[in-house]
Amino acid sequence: MRLRNIKGAREAIEASPYVILDPENYKGRWHEVFGNDHLLRLEVGMGKGQFIMEQARRHPEVNFIGIEMYSSVLIRALQKMEEEELPNLKFLRIDARTLPECFAQGEVDRIYLNFSDPWPKDRHAKRRLTSRQFLARYDQVLKSDGIIEFKTDNRPLFDFSLEEAKEANWHIDLCTYDLHHEEELMQDNIMTEYEARFSAQGNPIHKMIISR
Ligand code: SAM
Repeated sequence: MRLRNIKGAREAIEASPYVILDPENYKGRWHEVFGNDHLLRLEVGMGKGQFIMEQARRHPEVNFIGIEMYSSVLIRALQKMEEEELPNLKFLRIDARTLPECFAQGEVDRIYLNFSDPWPKDRHAKRRLTSRQFLARYDQVLKSDGIIEFKTDNRPLFDFSLEEAKEANWHIDLCTYDLHHEEELMQDNIMTEYEARFSAQGNPIHKMIISR
């Protein structure tokens, strides 16, 4: 998702109390940002923030950080936070490649990846957020029993992600090719913006959960 440049987005992000502009300075100290020792969960590539905001609403006992690399997209989440402030949610405008510079080993309990960009060309595979290169970065910040939850309607990306996870010795804890017909899993499913759009078009939604 990349919106047209939005005038003033960069300045608004820099002035926002909801965005941490210098995340490297909080590596190993995120509990100070939230003022508690609650679990910390990230959504990488959160887009406009619908999913992570609903997570934060439903789970006030957990801290959440939404990560998005484009100002023009992040600004939409900030506008929603101005209407409804969620004390357990912060945002970072970073490329997720820098995650290990921002979080200490074991600091993160869970990572959500939703409808990540497919990067269909083989030569761009390492940009996919479920590539072995990204799995190695997640490995550096997740707790030993931490998990990654990934949803997409893109079957080639999903199959690639399963292969990458196996290749990197992650366990496949859950794998479904049709999440929306799994009654039990749907009980606490939170729809993302892309999920709502693609499932309305009739696309089945795939989901996997992996751990080490
Ligand atoms: N997760 C949302 C959803 O399901 O509705 C948005 C999906 S959108 C296709 C993917 C988002 O991931 C885009 O907003 C893109 O800018 C962001 N993204 C892609 N690669 C990223 C990276 N390396 N670091 C941070 N954000 C990234």
